[in-house]
Amino acid sequence: MLKRIIQTIYPATCILCGASGAGDRDLCHACEADIVENRSACCTCAIPLPDTVNQQFCGQCLQKPPVYDAAWSPLLYAQPLEWMIQQVKFNSRLSFTRVLSDLLIARLPQIEVLPDCIIPVPLHARRLTERGFNQSLEVIRPVAKYLNIPVDHKSCRRKKHSQPQSGMNARQRRQNIKDVFEFDNRMGYQYIVIFDDVITTGSTVNELARVIKRQGVKRVDVWALARADKNYSV
Ligand SMILES: [Zn+2]
Ligand SMILES: [Zn+2]
Repeated sequence: MLKRIIQTIYPATCILCGASGAGDRDLCHACEADIVENRSACCTCAIPLPDTVNQQFCGQCLQKPPVYDAAWSPLLYAQPLEWMIQQVKFNSRLSFTRVLSDLLIARLPQIEVLPDCIIPVPLHARRLTERGFNQSLEVIRPVAKYLNIPVDHKSCRRKKHSQPQSGMNARQRRQNIKDVFEFDNRMGYQYIVIFDDVITTGSTVNELARVIKRQGVKRVDVWALARADKNYSV
């Protein structure tokens, strides 16, 4: 009842075009249809593969697989999603994160074994103060609640402030992210999902998976909202 009253006073408005949203969501059907799905992706790193090839893994994963076990990223890092994510990160539009969470919830695959927890990629304390929130934590929280999986944003820390990675190539990114994370497995986790808003080359999530597995965690998967069309070897 209360929800209906609030919806009448503040009807959902599409954050992209300003039309009325779909139900109580701030994104209309037409704009959602513009978001690009990551349909044929590598089963390990989620990089988009050409529709024409009938293969499950990209060449890089066949040659030298990443440290994490598997990645799931249902959307491509392309417009208009790219703009929405950038508004959250660089314009502190916290209210957009709920739309992003809903995009993930609508695309969740059948999950047979639930992880012990989801760890959002942590921000350095300085970046967290600048932005006021960790966008990965805000996006994944409603998803984890929906799946009934705990979110752990305390066991993992970003101990070093690294430079923003945009504009760096894969080798520079790997170097930039080295020894940045610290993880304490006092909870005795066996299976962890790392969540990042965007996988660009995969160097960040791969480094975090390395740090987590060093503490005895058997399986580490990566979930991300959006996947860029780049690989960490490039
Ligand atoms: Zn719209
Ligand atoms: Zn791959």
